[in-house]
Amino acid sequence: ITLSRLTTSCQGLPSSSAATPPPAKYGGRHTVTLIPGDGIGPELLSHVREVFRFSCVPVDFEVVHVNSGLESEDDINNAITAIRRNGVALKGNIETKHIMPPSVKSRNNLLRTSLDLYANVMHCQSLPGVQTRHKNIDIIIIRENTEGEYSNLEHESVSGVVESLKIITRNNSLRIADYAFRLAREKGRRRVTAVHKANIMKLGDGLFLQCCREVASGYPDITFDSMIVDNTTMQLVSKPQQFDVMVMPNLYGNVVSNVCAGLVGGPGLVPGANYGRDYAVFETATRNTGKSIADRNIANPTAMLLASCMMLDHLKLYDYASSIRNAVLTTMNETRLHTADIGGQGTTSEVVQSIMRIIQSKGQLTTDL
Ligand code: ATP
Repeated sequence: ITLSRLTTSCQGLPSSSAATPPPAKYGGRHTVTLIPGDGIGPELLSHVREVFRFSCVPVDFEVVHVNSGLESEDDINNAITAIRRNGVALKGNIETKHIMPPSVKSRNNLLRTSLDLYANVMHCQSLPGVQTRHKNIDIIIIRENTEGEYSNLEHESVSGVVESLKIITRNNSLRIADYAFRLAREKGRRRVTAVHKANIMKLGDGLFLQCCREVASGYPDITFDSMIVDNTTMQLVSKPQQFDVMVMPNLYGNVVSNVCAGLVGGPGLVPGANYGRDYAVFETATRNTGKSIADRNIANPTAMLLASCMMLDHLKLYDYASSIRNAVLTTMNETRLHTADIGGQGTTSEVVQSIMRIIQSKGQLTTDL
């Protein structure tokens, strides 16, 4: 895969498929909500800010901290209000402590559902310079992001019997299927695969599949097929090149995105976006907290920097996005600088320094021309 193909195809979604970006404010600047989150989130986002400052990106951040140790929802509600105000956010993952009572819901999930960020989009591509078992992977994964197994509806009415409700609705299934097909067409993709388990969840996944079929009938130019989730994961690890665009309910999306991230080199490399009608939130695709590697200057900054580039594309700041993205991808070719997760000995700040050097050299080149 050549760098030029990667830099164009790694771009964020065309605006017709996503939330309409808010207009720039006075002086052409945008305000974006920044949620540092836990673990490696704060350090990765401080590197994003450093690169943005260095590149004179016309974005101001409104930083909102969410304390994952508190049971109160005040912090996350403030963050949600800030995103409603600014329209766009960049975030680290907020830790969900399992020891907290069941009434304390995942803050990340609350944020996505409150803002109705219904489409999670991840573009998984083989990257230059990263050693992986499989080559030439280029898959777009569209995950329904608001219902399914993440409905937060569990109860134990009879002791020892927990009922956990998976909600599949016709409206939300049609909307995510429509999103997947529109995106596939806009990106010139040829095939959409719906991932399901309709042989067991005949009603729920059956409805999801039926909705995908209905939407597919309006896109005769795109081949539609479906695959059961267990076979999908096996096919992914044996022959991932067969997949093009994939669409699926929430939990399968979580599992499949993690498998795909692993295939192209791991959680430190792949960016992710959550789009709704009104808002857009960007983060790393696999939403890891990375507590064990926090504050050690060893986390891979690539996924978060590429997420910030998707955000810049969303704001239509295309030149800034491609300059940073190019520098990130060029740095990947320098194996000497790889962080430990992809087999190197480089530190986070060494990688970021190299990225800024490349941005500077390319900038000088343009000025000289
Ligand atoms: P938890 O929330 O309990 O931390 P998780 O499911 O979010 O768990 P993590 O443990 O955060 O997952 O991450 C999974 C693995 O990926 C860990 O080994 C972590 O160190 C690694 N990892 C995640 N992000 C990065 C990154 N940017 N650079 C290097 N390694 C990473």
